Amino acid sequence: MQRIGVLTSGGDAPGMNAAIRAIVRRAWHHDIEVVGYEDGYSGLVEGAYRELDNRSVGNVIQRGGTILGTSRCAEFYRPDVRALAAQRMVADGIKGLVVIGGDGSFRGALELAEEHGVAVCGIPGTIDNDVWGTEETLGFDTAVNTAMQAIDALRDTSESTGTNFFVEVMGRTSGAIALYTGLAAGAAGVLIPETSEPPIELAKRLQRSIGRGKRSHIVVVSEGDEAGGAFGVAHQVAELMDIEFRVTVLGHTQRGGSPTARDRIIATESGVLAVDALVAGTYGMMAGMQHREPTLVPLADVVAHRHSEAELDKLRLAMELAG
Ligand code: ADP
Repeated sequence: MQRIGVLTSGGDAPGMNAAIRAIVRRAWHHDIEVVGYEDGYSGLVEGAYRELDNRSVGNVIQRGGTILGTSRCAEFYRPDVRALAAQRMVADGIKGLVVIGGDGSFRGALELAEEHGVAVCGIPGTIDNDVWGTEETLGFDTAVNTAMQAIDALRDTSESTGTNFFVEVMGRTSGAIALYTGLAAGAAGVLIPETSEPPIELAKRLQRSIGRGKRSHIVVVSEGDEAGGAFGVAHQVAELMDIEFRVTVLGHTQRGGSPTARDRIIATESGVLAVDALVAGTYGMMAGMQHREPTLVPLADVVAHRHSEAELDKLRLAMELAG
């Protein structure tokens, strides 16, 4: 294999650039050229790519987002469009492809492999940490740290004025960001899509806590919580008890920013493993993390499973320590 491609697809996540850097530089050690496709599968379909050499990935390890751009490419669901993309790859002498993205991006990669024999490897990159077969995805640790720091800032005003905050974090179907942020920020409540705590239970807990003399509370809510995100939860709780509150939606701030050390390390180790797998002729795998070590898992298994269940022991712990 003398030439491979890399693309970032789906939602961007901090650490994607560190992975691109690792891929390019590891490939260089194997005497392999790397091209970077622009804007995910759109670039693959249009043949829009640029050569990436060691210098072109300098000074990106610390940058959030993705230097290649990303997109959601509706056309790529069509078999004829994937056939065109595969033909373009052959014509350009590109034999392998590393796809950095989530579950959906991996489905696209698998189809390319199964239908056209393209040698693919996936790297899980999504802030939601909702990919089966890996303990961590690129961007999750950064998103949790961003949300935690925002809550630390809210705590100052919350405690000074006695105002309660309902803070909405990202996660339409996965409560991972809410759970880890809630634990790290010492939240009084954590509401996630995987569980259904009725607002009356939360209101009772807050009431008991007020009775014990606690002046203000931070409640972390996943955007996908069935009560309607932080606004929905706050209004339902306010109907049940007399409470001064504000709602803060952290939104896309959680997607951006410089990746944490952990995300850069995962990105680097996964990028190296992905290139080594392609060189070794081990195709159709995902380079993820298990027991904090970079590990290959078949992509077919990854997309066949729903992501791991929410870590409810962490939720119980957060509530036990809420005070
Ligand atoms: P993520 O990779 O973060 O899960 P999406 O589910 O939006 O994000 O998928 C990203 C892109 O991957 C889609 O826009 C599409 O181009 C491609 N993709 C997703 N699912 C499939 C599929 N079943 N077949 C082909 N391509 C797919």
